[in-house]
Amino acid sequence: DTFEAAGLVEAVLRCVARAGYESPTPVQRYALPIAGAGRDLMACAQTGSGKTAAFCLPVISGLVNAEAGGGAWSGGGRRDRGSFDRVRVAKPRALILAPTRELAQQIHDEAKKFSSDTGLKVVVAYGGTPIRDQLRDLERGADILVATPGRLVDMVERSRISLEAIKFLVMDEADRMLDMGFEPQIRNIVDRMGMPKNSRQTMLFSATFPPEIQRLASDFLSNYIFITV
Ligand code: AMP
Repeated sequence: DTFEAAGLVEAVLRCVARAGYESPTPVQRYALPIAGAGRDLMACAQTGSGKTAAFCLPVISGLVNAEAGGGAWSGGGRRDRGSFDRVRVAKPRALILAPTRELAQQIHDEAKKFSSDTGLKVVVAYGGTPIRDQLRDLERGADILVATPGRLVDMVERSRISLEAIKFLVMDEADRMLDMGFEPQIRNIVDRMGMPKNSRQTMLFSATFPPEIQRLASDFLSNYIFITV
């Protein structure tokens, strides 16, 4: 019943302590060991349950553990490959999808707080605001991208983001994303990840579990564990 027992890396545990979180909430208590073991997860949890940390902490910890692997850039490192290749393509390794700008911003703030000791870069992208500043943030690199579906599709279609390196995929408030009509964008995004679904870890969070969410779960998750709090 402690964060220490949940298998998180030291750098993340330090941030958790600094945030004043003394013990995990129920959704965290169930989700952290499952996610830490690399399993896909379907979680039914409400706002206020502590669900944001339940997915942010294992994603950050997992990226730190995998740090020996590839960097945040396509094209082999920080140098551009040639004078015709000036635009950098961000290649995040974790993607967190959220229905609204407000929620995306909250998740971004939380992910930043818990990764401040890790050197990981967290970037947020949402619609309803000029794309230019967000593209500039992306050019500095992104390990974790928090995004709303429409803005993300736009950026991918502009070839500013590649989704080929995604190892962690989180969908937060999935029922709300479907209510808002984002299912085509979500399917477009997952299709672009290319690799089979068992080559990444996927976590689906939703307040409710109607048939449409059950269908998303069976399409996007592999051999998943279901929790409800
Ligand atoms: P969420 O459900 O993710 O929106 O979290 C609701 C609120 O609970 C946020 O303000 C979090 O910072 C806070 N919170 C999450 N987990 C914990 C915890 N283990 N201990 C204390 N506060 C927490």
